[in-house]
Amino acid sequence: SRTIHQIQSGQVIVDLCSVVKELVENSLDAGATHIDVRFRNQGLESIEVQDNGDGISPNNYETLALKHHTSKISDYSDLTTLQTFGFRGEALSSLCALSHFSVTTCMAADAPKGTKLEFETSGKLKSTSVVAAQKGTLVSVENLFRNLPVRRRELERKIKTEWNRVIGVLGQYACIQTGIKFSVSQQTSVKGKKTTLFSTKGNPSTKENIVNVFGAKTLTALVPLDLKLDLEPTSGQGERWSMQDDSGRKEIRIVGHISRPAFGEGRQTPDRQMFFVNARPCGLPQVAKAFNEVYKIYNVSQSPFIFANIELDTRLYDVNVSPDKRTILLHDQTRMLENLKTELTALFDSQDY
Ligand code: ADP
Ligand code: MG
Repeated sequence: SRTIHQIQSGQVIVDLCSVVKELVENSLDAGATHIDVRFRNQGLESIEVQDNGDGISPNNYETLALKHHTSKISDYSDLTTLQTFGFRGEALSSLCALSHFSVTTCMAADAPKGTKLEFETSGKLKSTSVVAAQKGTLVSVENLFRNLPVRRRELERKIKTEWNRVIGVLGQYACIQTGIKFSVSQQTSVKGKKTTLFSTKGNPSTKENIVNVFGAKTLTALVPLDLKLDLEPTSGQGERWSMQDDSGRKEIRIVGHISRPAFGEGRQTPDRQMFFVNARPCGLPQVAKAFNEVYKIYNVSQSPFIFANIELDTRLYDVNVSPDKRTILLHDQTRMLENLKTELTALFDSQDY
């Protein structure tokens, strides 16, 4: 029923941040190299994501926003070796239930026309019309939670915090994705002045992305991070690690940037900490804690800028824990954290730092 659909949708799309994540990940999955995110009134009025990706085939218009329709997964076993961000086909269907939702899409590079799709709250296709469009897809979400008054009021009440989180998470995608131009802008109202919050230039390196997002001062503050955690199975844990025996990969690498512990007195490093698992932004409080604990030994007065991508076999973690995909379970986390602290200590004790 409609009510059940709304409740379930509210579990996939819990806040502004989940809207932004789902839409940006869809654009990345579509192979976009240019992603433009535009907010009106900090997203309370509207969120638009325009990409230059593959576009959507007319064959998929009818089913696009129906629950569990996805073009990305063909059989359940794919879940263990997931390469795309999306796999459940729930985001667009949820957004139909929770907002004024439309999609404009165009597959041909030389076609000046695209198709605008509008949907019913159930996700059923309501109408299509021909409009001016560029290659790629524009997704528009207006008036989020318009039909969930309590949640809408809560969102309005917390908009400041929520907005900071949204910009934070967009910064994470913009920094980790090399070769992709991100731009994020905000307008107070339809007629209001447009402000660009940041834009990246399609840089080949994460370092250049970080400079685009966080400013040139990060250039001198950061040193490269490249830690290899050796997680050979110990006796008694053979079974847990047996999955990876055939893959030949027994290593976790943590790659990125961190601010120098000895970074000049009085010069404040930006207090930003970003974590990724195989380039997927995620909050990893335990990992953050390990980093901060070690850093504190060297510099008690500042907390570090951390940009850390944990690269590991996709079978060593699970993203399918919560509907909003925010929780990631790492296998054997305790041992990994111990190893991480040892490697970090070695890094800070080495000559270069
Ligand atoms: P999922 O990402 O899990 O497949 P979604 O509900 O997020 O589910 O999207 C449903 C489908 O809509 C996707 O499988 C994809 O085929 C299509 N789609 C969504 N956004 C885009 C986009 N920006 N570009 C191209 N196709 C898209
Ligand atoms: Mg998706």
